[in-house]
Amino acid sequence: MAEKKNTAAKLKEELLMNKKNAVYSLTKKQLAACDEFCEGYKDFMDKAKIEREAVEYSEALLKKKGFVEYKKGMKLKAGTKIYRNNRGKSIIMAVIGTAPIEDGIRLCAAHIDSPRLDLKQNPLYEDNEIALFKTHYYGGIKKYQWTTIPLALHGVIIKADGTSISVNIGEDEKDPVFCVTDLLPHLAAAQMTKPLAKGITGEQLNLVIGSRPFKDDEESGSVKLNIMSILNKKYGITEADFISAELEAVPAFKARDIGFDRSMIGAYGHDDKVCAYPALMAAAECEKPVHTMVTVLTDKEETGSDGNTGLNSSYLNYFVADIAEALGSDGRTVLSASECLSADVNAAFDPTFPEVNEKNNSAFINKGVVVTKYTGARGKSGTSDASAEFTGRIRRLMDANNVIWQTGELGKVDEGGGGTVAQYIANLNVDTIDLGVPVLSMHAPYEIVSKIDTYMAYKAFKVFMAD
Ligand code: MN
Ligand code: MN
Repeated sequence: MAEKKNTAAKLKEELLMNKKNAVYSLTKKQLAACDEFCEGYKDFMDKAKIEREAVEYSEALLKKKGFVEYKKGMKLKAGTKIYRNNRGKSIIMAVIGTAPIEDGIRLCAAHIDSPRLDLKQNPLYEDNEIALFKTHYYGGIKKYQWTTIPLALHGVIIKADGTSISVNIGEDEKDPVFCVTDLLPHLAAAQMTKPLAKGITGEQLNLVIGSRPFKDDEESGSVKLNIMSILNKKYGITEADFISAELEAVPAFKARDIGFDRSMIGAYGHDDKVCAYPALMAAAECEKPVHTMVTVLTDKEETGSDGNTGLNSSYLNYFVADIAEALGSDGRTVLSASECLSADVNAAFDPTFPEVNEKNNSAFINKGVVVTKYTGARGKSGTSDASAEFTGRIRRLMDANNVIWQTGELGKVDEGGGGTVAQYIANLNVDTIDLGVPVLSMHAPYEIVSKIDTYMAYKAFKVFMAD
């Protein structure tokens, strides 16, 4: 074969190199590895729909892999594996490296909360002999998408005496599910003239939960009473206990392969479990790295990262300071020398809606993990914008280790925008860049990702942790 010349054709080929479908550059065996990895991911998706369940799953896995709960004063040395469970809603894990801690840590950060419908504090009511729950949506949703789909309820109820009841109903095939209604088209003439954003309002996202009245005594005739009686028998709760509960209505769908070729996965909550799971797997398999590896799976990203389980709080900062001090240094020295992959999803180019993307700067499914230099909106508002130097460093790292990757920006300039936890970590004086999986129908009850991209995220975290 003739040697490739530095022609315009070759330059063009190089420019477009990372726009090729990754299938072309993977062997059969490598493709099988992607598919196999995703079997574990699908299982995780069915077991960890909300942040609390993701933390439980992670903690159990970490314990199995030899991680122990970190207590202040614990002796740390190269290879020590520790974790800290933050209130059951976020978790940090670390493996101490062989290099001095002053050389910085390798940090991966993903979030385990996803858009959903939370129950209000006084959720239960009855209207025309139908019992319903009032909800308050969590995160950015298109409200109409959450009607007429089966929903499951997950979360906890703290009873008056302080005991905690864990709730998970609607996932087992034999469980009942719940549903938000919508108008029949026959009577939706007025609704259908409204813009999409107004077709269904927040106060219309009411969950249907029952329709048979209580009829055992004089006070019968109440559907609400019947529901409370069922809940009292099942969970031992009274209506006031909803005040101290966190109940989340999430799609009752299971993760499934999508397409005749089974190349994709449909599931609720890929944002951001499709980064959290690969990061968790990479961290759990991490053995005696050079730089200390820290991975955080956080809560509250979808509502802006505020609150003590979100990354705009100090919990990560405190953890790093604790291990830095235990190893004879201090938090700010360590953080200032650290690097972070903010592991979050980006929008995948959707051929049905091409108009919102600028093709040269979009992420495509099957073209690998997407490295996003900046997120934000308008004039790069709300982003940390990784430096050219750090972007170059990640580029070299991915290329040297055959991680298939691409760049991508969240839609056209001025089309909208979004943010990640990158800015909060960068604000701790850490070199930070976003890296994650492109998603179709992001924030919908059922999102789509590619198996290859999911595996490439795992590979990216592995090589970053090992570097
Ligand atoms: Mn996200
Ligand atoms: Mn999101």
